[in-house]
This record gives sequence, C-alpha cells and structure tokens, in this order.
Amino acid sequence: MNNKVFIVGGGPIGCFLAEQLKECTIIEEHKKIGFPVQCTGLVSSNLFNLVSIPDNIILNKVEEAEIFFPNGKSIHFKGKAYVLDRASFDNYLYERASSYNNHFILGERVKFLSDHNLFTSQREIKISKGDIVVGADGPLSIVGKNIGITNKVLPAYQVTLKGKFDPTSVQLYLGRDTAPNFFGWVVPEDEKIARVGLAVPNNHHLYLKKLLSKLDYSKKVSSLGGLIPIDFHKYVSKNNFFLVGDAASQTKASTGGGIITGLIAAKELAKAIENPNYDYDKNWYKVIGKDLKLAYFLRQVFNRLNDQELNELYNLASSEKFKSLLEAVADMEYYSKFMNKLICFPTISYAFKTFIKHPSITKDIFNFLI
Ligand SMILES: Cc1cc2nc3c(=O)[nH]c(=O)nc-3n(C[C@H](O)[C@H](O)[C@H](O)COP(=O)(O)OP(=O)(O)OC[C@H]3O[C@@H](n4cnc5c(N)ncnc54)[C@H](O)[C@@H]3O)c2cc1C
Repeated sequence: MNNKVFIVGGGPIGCFLAEQLKECTIIEEHKKIGFPVQCTGLVSSNLFNLVSIPDNIILNKVEEAEIFFPNGKSIHFKGKAYVLDRASFDNYLYERASSYNNHFILGERVKFLSDHNLFTSQREIKISKGDIVVGADGPLSIVGKNIGITNKVLPAYQVTLKGKFDPTSVQLYLGRDTAPNFFGWVVPEDEKIARVGLAVPNNHHLYLKKLLSKLDYSKKVSSLGGLIPIDFHKYVSKNNFFLVGDAASQTKASTGGGIITGLIAAKELAKAIENPNYDYDKNWYKVIGKDLKLAYFLRQVFNRLNDQELNELYNLASSEKFKSLLEAVADMEYYSKFMNKLICFPTISYAFKTFIKHPSITKDIFNFLI
C-alpha cells in the first residue's frame, strides 16, 4: 500500500481496522485507550469469529434474557451472551494493532479537516492525493461531518450497582413508562454487581430512578453516559474518506449494540483499502447492512407502539411456538435469519392490526424496501 491511511478515533473499531491494515496512523483524543468507558459490553458469540479474546476480558457469560412488558409480565428466552470488560477489550485491540507498523497519536483531538490537511490540537497533518482518511470517531464523527454524513443519536445512561442479581440472566424492560423509544437493561457482571441503564431522549434521572426502584441493590458504584446512533446510512464513504463503526451508524438501532457490527464493517473496509476494486459501501451492506437496516426499521415500528400494544406483543411472544422459533434461529447480529422464519408464523395478523392503527408504519415499510 503506497498511500497513507489516517484513522481518526482509537476506539475498538479504529484499533481493529489498524490491526487489519498493519500500517497506518491513528489519532485518538484520549491519552489512555479504553477510557472513559461508555458501554455495557454485552456481545454475542459472533465476536469470537472476528477476534480471539483472552478469558480475563470476559467477566460473565449469561444464558438467557428476561423481557419485562409494561403489564409487569415477563418472558424468558434462552440464548448465550458475554459481558466484556470494555476497557480491557479496547486495550487488547490496541495492543494487537500496536504489534504492527501502526503509529498511534494519543491525546490529540482532530479539530478540523479538509481534503488536504487535518488539524489536531497540536499539529497539522498533510493529506496527499490518494491518502485515505477513516472516521472511526464515534457517533458525532468529525470526518462524517466533513463528507456531509451526520447521525441521529439517543443519549444513554448507565450505573453500576452492588446488590443481588441473577448472574445468568440479562433483563430488558419495555414500556413508555420505563424507557420511551428504547428499553432499560440489567446486565450482571456476577451475582453481586450489575450494569443497569437505559436510553431516553430526556428526563433520564426520572426514568433511571423508576428502573432502579424495581431492583434489589444496596449501592451505586459508578455511572456513565454515552450516545447511541439510531440511524441508518447505506453510503458511508466519499472519495478517499470512509466512515466505520458508530461514525457510520453501523450500530443496531434496535438494541444499541455496535461492537460486533462495527468490527464486521471494519473487515470490509480493510479489504477495500487494500484493493481499490473492492467497493466498501456495496460489501459492508451485503455482509451486515441489510440486517442493520432491518434493525432500524424495527426500532421505528417499536417506537410507535404504546404500552397496550406492547402487552399484546407479550401475548404473541409468550407462546411456546414463538419462543422455540426465537431460541432456534435468533441471532444478535443477523436479524434477517429470524425475520425470514417469522413470516411463516401467525405474526401477520398482529402486524396487520398494528399497521391499521399506525398508518405511518406504512411509510417505514416503504423506506425499508427502497
Ligand atoms: C451506554 C452504552 C451502552 C452500550 N452497550 C453496548 C453493548 O452492550 N454491546 C455493544 O455491542 N455495543 C454497545 N454500545 C455501543 C458500543 O459502545 C459502540 O458501538 C462501540 O463503542 C463503537 O466503537 P467505535 O470505535 O466505532 O466508536 P467509539 O467507541 O465511540 O470510539 C470512537 C473513538 O474516537 C475518539 N474520537 C472522537 N472524536 C475524535 C476526534 N475528533 N479526534 C480524535 N479522536 C476522536 C473517541 O474518543 C473514541 O475513543 C453501547 C453504547 C452506549 C453509549
């Protein structure tokens, strides 16, 4: 590769991309990789197909999800997921990238960039013709702004609690009263510590207080906040500028999970940078984009459901037939596998009733299909 590659952002996706490329410059605003942590760190086993993870980074393995509906009833679904020590995970990817000919500039924020140069707080970096600039700089990407792509975002808040938790089960709380336009979560690190959070457009103190009142805890250990991109862009590159990870909204709008989908897209970007005939936008869409588009569509639909409709969904989803279908084919990243099977299920009548009540969903379907 003769041209230089500059990656703005040394988060997990920027570091993973650097590892694939082996020779680039990464500019990260923080002095310490992995901090501040702004994540719950829940991932599926799909992660292990992308990168081997040392055991000490995995804090817990959960066996099921319990979903609470507004009527207080819950459904248990079996399914494995892993709770990561996110700071250690980021540092592990950083170490892997550092073992190649990569150059990390830490503690410098990119403040401005154009086709010809990139200014950090401390230096100007010349961009020559043919050089590549990657925005792996998160939801408010400055590289994205430079090429006219911005992300709609939802603020998320999380506290770490000490208390009594079921270490084998993740809990999700749905409902207008709990977390309008998203959900609340309880992700156990073990039987004594859990990460509890939600994403809401505003009034997070109020909603978090309500969520915490449902839990058996003694102490708040720490808290964090971050932004989740709730958006979908089919094209995330322009000339020699490319976006990846949260900068490209390559996050599941349904759940906010973006680690694995970002890593998958980064692999496609590495191929495109190494081979100019490999079309990044076409290929990341093929590999994960259609599932992300589906996740975005589902988020739009869910956001229109009121509590009564969510409770109707409970009636449907609590049937043994639905549960076994979900447990057999559901995948935390590749939603389309499950949706294809769902078509054969009596969800059609539920969907039809919902669409009649919310004619605007027709617009979402149209947007999804085009
Ligand atoms: C509360 C919360 C919980 C989440 N939980 C999960 C979860 O359980 N599972 C999951 O898969 N995903 C989760 N996510 C999403 C996940 O954290 C992101 O998808 C993931 O971090 C994306 O990685 P990234 O490298 O693209 O971006 P980031 O992790 O945002 O990294 C971007 C990096 O770029 C740096 N940067 C930004 N601007 C500049 C600049 N101008 N100059 C230099 N550096 C810059 C930032 O400091 C940062 O280090 C969660 C997100 C939030 C907010």
